[in-house]
Order: sequence, then C-alpha cells, then structure tokens
Amino acid sequence: MIRIRGLGVKYILRPASVLYFALMDGRFMKVYELLRRGHGPRRWWPVTPPGGTKPFYTGGPRNDLQRFEVAAGAILTQNTAWANAERAIENLNRLGAMSPGAIERMDVQALAAAIRSAGYFNQKAKRLRTIAAWFRANRKGTREGLLALDGVGLETADSIMLYAFNAPVFVVDAYTRRLFGRLALVDPSAPYEEIRDRFERNLPRRVYVYKEYHALVVEHGKSVCRKAPLCEKCLLKRLCLMYLERKEPTQGKSG
Ligand code: SF4
Repeated sequence: MIRIRGLGVKYILRPASVLYFALMDGRFMKVYELLRRGHGPRRWWPVTPPGGTKPFYTGGPRNDLQRFEVAAGAILTQNTAWANAERAIENLNRLGAMSPGAIERMDVQALAAAIRSAGYFNQKAKRLRTIAAWFRANRKGTREGLLALDGVGLETADSIMLYAFNAPVFVVDAYTRRLFGRLALVDPSAPYEEIRDRFERNLPRRVYVYKEYHALVVEHGKSVCRKAPLCEKCLLKRLCLMYLERKEPTQGKSG
C-alpha cells in the first residue's frame, strides 16, 4: 500500500491501482488535457429543466424524466446533427409528450410528425415508443437490456448508459475512430468493443472524464479534425502521426 500526502488529503493507492496506473498509455490523458485546454469544458448532455421547453446543460439529468429525455435524444440524434434532434425535443416538450407514458399513448403518426426535424421520423417514432416502453419497465438501465431493443446499437446504448445512468462506459463514434486513427492510438477499423476497451484501459475510471472526453472528441472532429483536417490549427499536431508523416521532408531524387 502506498500513501501519498498532498493538499491536506491522504491518498492510499493499493498495489493493484499503482500497477494499473503505471500500465496506462499516458497519451490518452494527454489528448484529453489538450482538447480541454483548446475547447474548454463541453458540459454535456443538455436536458430540459422542469417547466421549460429547451434543453440546456444543468449538470446532467437529475430524475427519471430527464434520464428518459437523454435516451430519447440519443435516438433522435442518430444520423443527424444535434440541432435537428433538439428541435424535435422542443416540439415534444411543447406537446407535453416528453415522458415514456405520453410517448406510448401518442398516435405513432402524430409522434412522427412531431419529430420530423430529426429525419428518419417514421423509424425514430417506432424506436421512441420501444424505448419508452422499456423505460417504464426498467428504471435502472443495463447495457444488455438496451442493446436488446430494436434500433439501439452500441453507440446509442453507451451514450444512454453514460449520460443518463452515469455508468463508466466510454462512447465510441465515427469522430473517435477518425481522430484516434489519425493519431495512431487506435485502429480505426477495429470492432467497437475493442476501441471502447482501449479507452477504458487507458483512462481513469471516472464518469466525468468519459462524458467530457466524448463531447470534446465530437467538437474537435466537427471543428478541426474534419474529413479535410485543419492541421495547422490543431493543438494535437505534435502527437499526430498523420500530421508528422505529412510534414516529413521528401527524399530528394538523385541523378
Ligand atoms: S493534426 Fe490534423 S489529422 Fe492530426 S489530429 Fe489534428 S487535425 Fe486531425
């Protein structure tokens, strides 16, 4: 057992924890720190306060209704920008329909019309009803339970587990694959679970860090490490294999 004193607090690290931290690849935390320095805290996920219609960040969901709203948002934002999902959430709030019971009672065509802005509205209306029924039966989320639902894949299930239920699961999406593939920290074509596991092994098991990290990756993927990346603006360039390989001087041809 190792005792560390600092700031008036005594930390006791068990041998297993010491070994665990020693084996971590520090580049994952380094990237997190640089992204946080560059983009600032993302404060994600927004939910609608009681009596309101527009979601915004107030520290995350605090009750079952707000946890359901996170799950509904995770369905609504599939294959579309958050702004479109947010408009659908506002519509549901105006209709008094942002609850599992109200969504289950709502006519499926009326529900589809209310969430039109989110795209794929017929499909998403069915998915919302499925997840509403599941929420009424399961107050405590389980990853396996969510993954058994039609239309809930790994990314959606993990977003719900992390942001609605505060479970320590790292969310992997297309931005994560692209950014960390370019940094050469993950194989971008690896299976979802392998990439998730790599993050979870190399980060402290803290829900706050997982939440912030995913939101920072999304922000960086949208604003800097785009499909056509803006490398000169990027605060990760010194760590980035893709950037360093591009910068390498080409060998002069002799003769
Ligand atoms: S240096 Fe370029 S490719 Fe590398 S992470 Fe930054 S934006 Fe992406």
